[in-house]
Amino acid sequence: MAAEGIQNSLSLLKTYFGYDNFRKNQSEIIQHVLNKNDALVVMPTGGGKSLCYQLPALEFKGVTLVISPLIALMKDQVDALRSNGIEAEFFNSTQSPELQQEIKAKVANKTVKLLYAAPESLSGLQEVLNQSYFSCIAVDEAHCISSWGHDFRPSYQQLSFLKRSLPQTPVIALTATADKSTRKDILKQLAIPKAKVFLSSFDRKNIFLEVRNADQRLKQIENFLLRRQDEAGIIYCLSRKSTEKLAKDLTKKGFKAKAYHAGLTTDDRSEIQEDFVYDKTQIICATVAFGMGIDKSNVRWVIHYNMPKNLEGYYQEIGRAGRDGVAAHALMFHSYADVIQYKRFLEDVNNKEVQEAKLERMKQFAEATSCRRRILLGYFGEHLTENCGHCDVCKNPPRFIDAKIIAQKALSAIGRVKQSEPIGIVIDVLRGAKNTGVYDKGYQNLKTYGIGNGISWKDWQHYILQLINLGYIEIAFHRKNALEFTAMAKKVLFEDEQVWLTKPKADTISQTSTKAISKSSSLFKHLKQLRMELSIEENIPPYLVFNDATLKEIEKERPLTEQDFKSISGVNALKAEKYAYDFITVIKKFNTKKRKKKTSTYEETLHLYKNGKSIETIAKERNLKSITIVSHLSTLIKKGESINIDDLISKTEITSVENILKDVDYKGALKPVYEGLNGKLSYEKIRLALAVLES
Ligand code: ADP
Ligand code: ZN
Repeated sequence: MAAEGIQNSLSLLKTYFGYDNFRKNQSEIIQHVLNKNDALVVMPTGGGKSLCYQLPALEFKGVTLVISPLIALMKDQVDALRSNGIEAEFFNSTQSPELQQEIKAKVANKTVKLLYAAPESLSGLQEVLNQSYFSCIAVDEAHCISSWGHDFRPSYQQLSFLKRSLPQTPVIALTATADKSTRKDILKQLAIPKAKVFLSSFDRKNIFLEVRNADQRLKQIENFLLRRQDEAGIIYCLSRKSTEKLAKDLTKKGFKAKAYHAGLTTDDRSEIQEDFVYDKTQIICATVAFGMGIDKSNVRWVIHYNMPKNLEGYYQEIGRAGRDGVAAHALMFHSYADVIQYKRFLEDVNNKEVQEAKLERMKQFAEATSCRRRILLGYFGEHLTENCGHCDVCKNPPRFIDAKIIAQKALSAIGRVKQSEPIGIVIDVLRGAKNTGVYDKGYQNLKTYGIGNGISWKDWQHYILQLINLGYIEIAFHRKNALEFTAMAKKVLFEDEQVWLTKPKADTISQTSTKAISKSSSLFKHLKQLRMELSIEENIPPYLVFNDATLKEIEKERPLTEQDFKSISGVNALKAEKYAYDFITVIKKFNTKKRKKKTSTYEETLHLYKNGKSIETIAKERNLKSITIVSHLSTLIKKGESINIDDLISKTEITSVENILKDVDYKGALKPVYEGLNGKLSYEKIRLALAVLES
């Protein structure tokens, strides 16, 4: 960017958006667009796409037309822009003809900077759709144009007329969908074949990735939530029924949870969504439909109650967390039951091979024993050269053990039950269980019965699932999920082949429940409370007042003047003017409260002492030990407080302490001094004398 251009853009960035710097790629894209070139921007969710057209819009003389697929999202974006002091409107068929006329007049007068519209509504704008009014066209969610993409919208395919009728107006297409065929399609359909493609990294570094075994899922979720008491999040479930059951279970446990799925009425759905956006509902238990139409930046975590059926879905869903760049957590539960169900389901679909391959990659991710982020990004063609350090595998790498004997025991049990039993019965046989599943078939008489009773049920499950993943065993889905050998199994059984398996991890439930429940700091709570009040006052979602990243910086910096408040990232001129006073008041109040708390115990002692009370009386009144009261006084003396202690210790006594210090090895402990004086002075007196000498 030319130096002058950069300066201008940076100053607009601070004035309107409150940020001090552009993110990677943003400035390059902005300069490219300002030079009236076409562009295709591919950036992950939360990457900061909006700024790439919103900032140029401020510099262009005319209006920037933004094509966006969802009316709900448009309103959100327009609200966000207005809260930053930028003139913006949306245009759609639900508006009255008068209002539509008014908006068109604003376009003709160029009194709006951005105009949002769905492709279906463009015909209504015909009379103003003209180069002299529009300086730029942004096509958001551009993958909707392609039948390759996952949200194909036929109306998007008519958009090529834009370039034809406004050839001089630069077009910037934006999407979070990276694959090549979609990209090509976008350029073709929008008639911008020469557009420069800006590809950003898809790594969402702030999202911690974790996969856990699905045993006792509800209990695990409860523990997870206890440590995130006021953080919003989404739990994705496979079925409507399970969203409702889970929401009910969590509500019973005292959480604010709601179910969301396509079976609800439109009104119910929008109410649930709005309560979530406005921080009134903490948890949404939803089918994957949820999240598409919302821009809520402070979703702090996403849980997959079930494994998604492919990594595309997984990536898109976890992407709804942490859009503000602040730390977020993605937790997925993995169970074999889910895999079995998917496989059964895939029997009847027509592109079975493709789906199966995708499921297999998903499964590999879930069962990974190496960095998950590398696997995830690798799937999308981006290859990290190092482990991420921010996933469960990196944090707690699996330990491999020589598991030949374990594998041989498991395989021979499978052999003895004639490869006709599912995992549960095989484990029961190994552990010598006394139940009907075993007795009915006389398995208690097998040679392998009970040979594995030194290993817990859960650990056996862990080992056998690994043997399946590693290809020693297969699940015969058509024979009631019986375990059967592969060719590799025979090598272990008969050729003594080595097998390495990972050690089971410590129980995640006990692990998490022993950890302290982390709560946000109390200042952060006050700031959040204030944000909530302001959001209600202005009828905008709390994260549009300030996002979590900005709130965190306010917490850290604790600005006390409007000037300092303005320097916080995310605070622009308008918001500084509107909110500085309220936020500074909250910070000041918090600071004085804290100061009081810290000093009050000393001050109280001092106050009582100056009122002529004896050490013993003060100790009794305050329910403290005498030595504590004396040490309060000592601390105050050391700090320079002038206190008359003539009644407590004489000048000669102080001198005797002073003299003995020359002989004993005094390193802060009182005992050597006490012994050096042969116990003639009490510890209390010594403490006071030392305080006087130190002061
Ligand atoms: P996307 O549309 O790519 O999902 P957004 O445009 O909604 O992403 O931006 C995501 C978040 O990042 C928003 O909260 C936005 O305010 C913030 N953001 C964007 N650019 C910057 C920047 N240069 N500095 C700080 N925060 C930014
Ligand atoms: Zn990692």
